[in-house]
Amino acid sequence: MTTETGQSSRSKPSDDDDDAWAKLVPLDTRFSDIEIRFNDMVICSETKPSSSERHEWCRITKNLGQGSATLRNISSDAILVDEAIISKHGAVDIISGSEIVPGPGLQDYLQYRFTVMPAPDSRSQLLKISIDPDHAKCSICLNVWHDVVTAAPCLHNFCNGCFSEWMRRSEARHQHVLCPQCRTTVQFVGRNHFLQNIQEDILKADSSLRRPAEDIAVLDASSSIQSNLIIGSKRKRRLSTLVSPTLEERDSLRLQCPQCVATVGGYRCERHGAHLQCHLCRGMMPNRTNIQVPLHCMGCDRPYCGAYWSSQNVTHGESTPVCSPETFKPISERTVTRIPFITHEMNRHEQDITQRCIAKMGRTVQDVVAEWFRLFNDRQIDRSRMPLNHAESITASTHVCNECYNKLVGFLLYWFRVTLTVDHFPADAAARENCWYGYACRTQHHNEEHARKRNHVCRPTRGNHPS
Ligand SMILES: [Zn+2]
Ligand SMILES: [Zn+2]
Ligand SMILES: [Zn+2]
Ligand SMILES: [Zn+2]
Ligand SMILES: [Zn+2]
Ligand SMILES: [Zn+2]
Repeated sequence: MTTETGQSSRSKPSDDDDDAWAKLVPLDTRFSDIEIRFNDMVICSETKPSSSERHEWCRITKNLGQGSATLRNISSDAILVDEAIISKHGAVDIISGSEIVPGPGLQDYLQYRFTVMPAPDSRSQLLKISIDPDHAKCSICLNVWHDVVTAAPCLHNFCNGCFSEWMRRSEARHQHVLCPQCRTTVQFVGRNHFLQNIQEDILKADSSLRRPAEDIAVLDASSSIQSNLIIGSKRKRRLSTLVSPTLEERDSLRLQCPQCVATVGGYRCERHGAHLQCHLCRGMMPNRTNIQVPLHCMGCDRPYCGAYWSSQNVTHGESTPVCSPETFKPISERTVTRIPFITHEMNRHEQDITQRCIAKMGRTVQDVVAEWFRLFNDRQIDRSRMPLNHAESITASTHVCNECYNKLVGFLLYWFRVTLTVDHFPADAAARENCWYGYACRTQHHNEEHARKRNHVCRPTRGNHPS
């Protein structure tokens, strides 16, 4: 088996185009990408996985406007482009994502995916920067950051665990949270994903800077910053009823939490307590760590206030936004009336077929989803492709947001569809052959006819993981 790089021969010289503007990416990862550097280029590369033989088999010409190209078949046999047969001397337009097989059958030939590179001005440059690890250290524990968080407005960085501990101590003393490094009052703290990459690169480059696993476990256990926290929202003076609030005042009122304004449900916020901002209504709720009610959606880790305020018997805010409990509740209490938009990779042909299969069985979407959720809860469904965070921990009593619930329903409907026998299908859908690329097929999104003709609710049988 050869692992040589695919090569291309230059046909027409073009001096303005030295960088590759597109490439052919072999789906079999044992082969290398073929860069397309010229506006018109003859491709000479492996066509079969079984031999290292190369010959010229197609010519790719860049179309004006960069997004597409014309592919001409110059081999001695038919080739396949997006599953359509292109006979000898034939030509077809290709776009980024088009799948090309340099022969008439998939069995014996390699497959390539045509990929257009981003335009030069938007192409991200990979810069090599050097960084002194001393500048990537937490001033509390003096180690390279772990799960780094950034405090604002001063923008100093700390380990999540170290800063969480510091914040707890300030709150216990009813004090402002001051930055441990510069003593500025911290108004906001959040995880810094960009610096987390740097933190990881440093530890990869110099493993002597790593901390023992036991230390990391202790640190993780005290980390309480899951999403962005707003700290020490100031208590506003009572507005006179005679004076209507200015726009600015209304804005700052919007950012207040009902339990900062008054004692509600037996709780009043600490004067400088940390708050979470609800992802849905943008209202504030206290970041209480010692209560049972969830403040974050497990599927997406974003904060939602619906369950919290309902547990505090707050159903609407006076002048502050508060979500209804309907927006954030356990999976077991949710119902679904129609197939969510994101189901079957947003392919509406497949959604329509699933809808008709359900109708033909005399069932409802809710009925089908409830049945498949029971199987899910009994751990009879493989969760590896589930599009939610913490997939393994999700049960019937897990609170999820509307968006995550729709993703879960889409996931369950996939399993419903792939396990259906063909006699449950409507007549026009019963004879469709599976697309080789299954749910991962990109052609289904830009080629109506292909989406109609082939079934895409199936596992890929071709692609990056040759079977
Ligand atoms: Zn630290
Ligand atoms: Zn600071
Ligand atoms: Zn509050
Ligand atoms: Zn969610
Ligand atoms: Zn809310
Ligand atoms: Zn397809």
